[in-house]
Amino acid sequence: MIIKSAEFITSAVQPAHYPPPDHPEIAFAGRSNVGKSSLINTLVRRKRLVKTSSTPGRTQLINFFLINGDLMLVDLPGYGYAKVPAAVRKQWGPMVETYVARRTSLKGAVVLVDARRRPEVEELNLIDWLRQHRVAVVPVLTKADKLSKTELIKQRRAAAQALDMAEEALILFSAKSRLGKEALWQRLEGILAH
Ligand code: GDP
Repeated sequence: MIIKSAEFITSAVQPAHYPPPDHPEIAFAGRSNVGKSSLINTLVRRKRLVKTSSTPGRTQLINFFLINGDLMLVDLPGYGYAKVPAAVRKQWGPMVETYVARRTSLKGAVVLVDARRRPEVEELNLIDWLRQHRVAVVPVLTKADKLSKTELIKQRRAAAQALDMAEEALILFSAKSRLGKEALWQRLEGILAH
């Protein structure tokens, strides 16, 4: 994918604030600190299109970015940050579930899991919602540079098992080395072509 332009469109908390569903959309979701901002910035080759929040998880906003004037990338709020007040944490589920259920232009969702961790109940629930709404799921293991090759293979096998997916379905990604960038774009282009 050649990136000619990447612009922030708007932030939303509820459907009334979403931009019109005029472009195919790909959403990104993961635990706070999983490397979601870094991954999106790496994909679109911008250093700070998506800003890293200094207090992760504090802002529960859905951010919309338009790429090349015809593809919307959506940064969903991170979840699972322990220091976030319980009331804010509780909003995450309904907010993301509403987005997935209502967003007619949503084609695919990249679900990020730290390569050093295992998918947990939040990821499993999210993948369930996505499948129910026929949104293609792209699982990505982030920060792959933090593990040795052997550890990576082990972690990918365990994650694939937990998600009930083929190992090859999981993309190994590093914002540091840019490992997986092309593989991820290829997967997204495949989804968008349908
Ligand atoms: P977000 O909260 O999910 O948006 O996560 P960020 O993209 O802000 O990243 C959280 C922290 O992990 C930051 O300190 C990043 O520099 C670091 N990080 C993100 N991606 C990578 C990666 O691929 N490799 C390494 N080593 N660190 C990463």
